[in-house]
Amino acid sequence: MSQINVTRSSMPEFDEYCEEIRELWESRWLTNSGVKHKKLQADLEDYLGVPHLTLFTNGHLALEYILEAMNFPKGSEIITTPFTFASTTHAITRSGFTPIFCDVNKEDFTIDVSKIESLITDRTVAILPVHVYGNICDTYEIDEIAKKHGLKVIYDAAHAFGVTVNGVSVACFGDASMFSFHATKVFNTVEGGALCYSDDSLVPILDSIKNFGLCGEDCTVAGGNAKMSEFHAAMGICNLRHVDGEIAKRKIAAERYFERLEGISGIKICTPAERVSSNYAYMPVVFDGYRYSRDEIREKLAEQGITARKYFYPATNEFSCYKNLNQINTGNTPIAKDLSEKVLTLPLYADLSVEDVDRICDIITKR
Ligand SMILES: *Cc1c(COP(=O)(O)O)cnc(C)c1O
Repeated sequence: MSQINVTRSSMPEFDEYCEEIRELWESRWLTNSGVKHKKLQADLEDYLGVPHLTLFTNGHLALEYILEAMNFPKGSEIITTPFTFASTTHAITRSGFTPIFCDVNKEDFTIDVSKIESLITDRTVAILPVHVYGNICDTYEIDEIAKKHGLKVIYDAAHAFGVTVNGVSVACFGDASMFSFHATKVFNTVEGGALCYSDDSLVPILDSIKNFGLCGEDCTVAGGNAKMSEFHAAMGICNLRHVDGEIAKRKIAAERYFERLEGISGIKICTPAERVSSNYAYMPVVFDGYRYSRDEIREKLAEQGITARKYFYPATNEFSCYKNLNQINTGNTPIAKDLSEKVLTLPLYADLSVEDVDRICDIITKR
């Protein structure tokens, strides 16, 4: 029986990629904002419907660099959620800021907007919510709170590539949105990421920080290096041509899961909200009061060569690297902790067949 992994990267035909990189052998211009970098940036601005997009080597550094570009005082507090990938929290702490954890809501696992205001202090500078699994945060309410308290809003949109809400691109929300183009994401450049934003003044700042802070011969900031290479950009150009088709194929597999698992007592799944055009990035399932636990289901699937992931477990405020930071208050986020112990992310990718989804669901629902 064939092995099924939790994901499988989308790739163009080999020849399409070779054709895309051919001119790099002629120009010998391999990185530093060459033709492929410029084209991918323009193609993505168009696809995501944003005024500005800056490419990075990966999504994590994009997040670190936007936090740096915003010039918050060191020691500032940033309100975020722990039900996410390690990157979100690490970007805050590595940049010298303190994460203040807000719990998530039980419906779609995004930040519980009713709990944000009580966490705001005179050191709070920003809210960094996560469109987790491509479920979109309550951006309207977050915007209201941020405006009222003079806070910046930076979205971790790593999971939300191409998602629209009432026809509006998710990349337009907040002061900035970070996308990841890692191999495992809906749209990939092998490794890569981007920031989307509307503030014109950020363009030269971000272009400079990702290139050592160079500004002519001078360095105006001590920047780092997070430039996307021409080869990665070329992969992105190719993958972007096919991304709508890939999302359409993901949808077929996801809808089969919904059909098979919806309404089963003890199983909770997240179907996309009416107003949202989903990218079907992940298939999270919460086993809460089901006849088998999350870990038992994972074991049963593994026995049949199917890899499902405890994604996200543990909640990031449970990581041992944070055990000495007393600000990292795990007691404030019981829903995130509970979810992390009950959620399992099932295989979902464009080439996953309906037969394979049935095989997985048969194992889950078998008595
Ligand atoms: C993938 C991911 C990141 C980091 O992106 P990379 O491109 O791998 O650096 C950040 N946040 C979330 C929620 C992610 O899933």
